[in-house]
Amino acid sequence: MNMNSISFWIIFYLIMLALSVIIGYLKGNIIAGFLLGYVLGPIGLILILLSKDRRTIQCHACLEKIHKHSYICPHCQTKVQHKHKKLIN
Ligand SMILES: [Zn+2]
Repeated sequence: MNMNSISFWIIFYLIMLALSVIIGYLKGNIIAGFLLGYVLGPIGLILILLSKDRRTIQCHACLEKIHKHSYICPHCQTKVQHKHKKLIN
C-alpha cells in the first residue's frame, strides 16, 4: 500500500466521521453520531442515518412530523399531546 492510498482512506474515514457527526447533530443525537462514525466509519454513518430523529414527534391528528417542543401543530393547528409523563402532578 503506497502513501496515496493510505491518505485516501484516512480522508475517506474522516469524511464519514464528519458526516456522522453532522447527521447526529441534525437528529439531536450528536454523541451517538460521533461514536458511530468513530467506531464504525461508513457503517456508523448508515446506522445514524437510519436512527430515529429524537427532535421530532408525530402529530396525533395529522401525523406530520413536528418539533417535540411544539405546543400547537403547525400543519393542522391541533394542540399537541405529549406522550411523556410530566414530572410534577
Ligand atoms: Zn397536526
